[in-house]
Amino acid sequence: MTAEARGLVYLVGAGPGDPGLITVRGHQLLRVCDAIATDALANPGIVDGARRANPAVQVYDVGKRGGDRASWSQDDINALLVRLGREGKRVVRLKGGDPFVFGRGSEEALALAAAGVAFEIVPGVTAGIAAPAYAGIPVTHRGLATSVTFVTGHGDPTKDEPDVSWASLAQAGGTIVLYMGVKTLPGISRALLEAGMSVDTPAAAVQWGSHARQRTVVATIATLADAIMHAGLSAPVITIIGDVVALRDQIAWFERRPLFGRRIVVTRASAQAAGVRDALLELGAEVLEMPALRIEPLDDARERLARTTFQEYDWVIFTSQNAVQIAWDALRSAGRDARAFAALRIACIGRATNDSLLTHGLSGDVVPARFVSEGLLDALAARDDVRGRRVLYLAAEGARDVLPDGLRALGCDVDVISLYHTTPDETDREALRKAMSSSHVDAATFASASAVRGFLDAIGAALARTVPAISIGPITSDAIREAGMTLAAEANEASVTSLVETTRAFLTATEHAAPGQH
Ligand code: SAH
Repeated sequence: MTAEARGLVYLVGAGPGDPGLITVRGHQLLRVCDAIATDALANPGIVDGARRANPAVQVYDVGKRGGDRASWSQDDINALLVRLGREGKRVVRLKGGDPFVFGRGSEEALALAAAGVAFEIVPGVTAGIAAPAYAGIPVTHRGLATSVTFVTGHGDPTKDEPDVSWASLAQAGGTIVLYMGVKTLPGISRALLEAGMSVDTPAAAVQWGSHARQRTVVATIATLADAIMHAGLSAPVITIIGDVVALRDQIAWFERRPLFGRRIVVTRASAQAAGVRDALLELGAEVLEMPALRIEPLDDARERLARTTFQEYDWVIFTSQNAVQIAWDALRSAGRDARAFAALRIACIGRATNDSLLTHGLSGDVVPARFVSEGLLDALAARDDVRGRRVLYLAAEGARDVLPDGLRALGCDVDVISLYHTTPDETDREALRKAMSSSHVDAATFASASAVRGFLDAIGAALARTVPAISIGPITSDAIREAGMTLAAEANEASVTSLVETTRAFLTATEHAAPGQH
């Protein structure tokens, strides 16, 4: 088979914004493809998730933005897809909503067909259905609307030769869903009214539909353009015209979630932080995430592990999922496997680390109740097979000395191998600083004292002190006070559930500053 024959371009709908609204097939393809070419309207979180699951993937951000940034023309995008396809790559061309609904996906398909590059289409949830649904507006309803028309407002009916027959749409009587029509709405409304549409016809505009920052404005066809201007809505906006809009009063649900419209920073990228993030998103909050730390394996660690005679030790200690992963990669590249640890007892810091070990067929003999170094040391000290033994400690560079020092005090002979170091991602930090200074943040959650330090490091003390801090427990609260930040609330119990519940209680008791629904 030639390389050319293997290339395949998937035109994939990313859905309207909520990352949960991509199809299962789209999600799977993102995890196995060689390259992603993404739109400005596809939620960047979807691409971030794909990058985490598929670190080798090449990402091209071909969002066609106006302004001074070098932007991609449709011809450039077509040429890129053809080139990648010819190189034999599996490419996901990720497009906001559905690729074939005002998405120019069909033009890309035609270019690929002309170039003889194989392609497939993966439809998506289009904004014209999802944005109304998230605003509580069904596009059809028995007795109110038996048809729906998706129409582009791109051309101004008062200036251009109209491509759209607004008069027949006004007479058809179904729901009209308008894409790309914020600026041209005054002219479109006039054309519809002139064709006999009732001035009382309800109309709504939904900006950033299905995103946490969704905003909805409801008026009538005669007043909507003014109402949009007054509220300051700008693209991306879907406009819905028709009697179905009246059902929003009863059906609106998304904007009634308890934390809708609130912005919260979740510090520290970790499995635990992901739990906090997901729970806050479910409550309707907009979540800004702390930049993940880059994990970089240390070269000499690989060599040291490859040379280690594991039988010389009685215990091995893993203190993170990363340590397990990197140790495994090193072992595998030295042609070894789980049997290297066969005769050893294993200690790990917590359940997540133990779960990682389980995926390699091993399970910790000691997993402490408190997932910190002190907790592990106490658990080891309580046993009668630790004192005076030989211990191999696999750690992050710069890890605290609590464990090795404590074990040495128990008469153990401890060797430490630093497997990796962590460095912050400067671009991500800058993005967080920008997001935080450009608009109000209601709270930041902290699940550890080190998360407090990481937050200060990432955005600087001045900005950090502007945000009410929610803490998981007393030690974290001390760190927050020491940093000169405002401790807004402390969880009753050191758990994700309690941290989320405390955040919710704090925010529902405080004034809502962000722009709300209309
Ligand atoms: N292929 C896309 C549409 C692309 S055209 C789809 O199927 O949804 C771009 C227009 O889509 C925007 O100007 C806006 O009218 C609409 N749009 C896309 N995402 C939106 C969103 N989350 N909320 C409101 N409108 C959106």
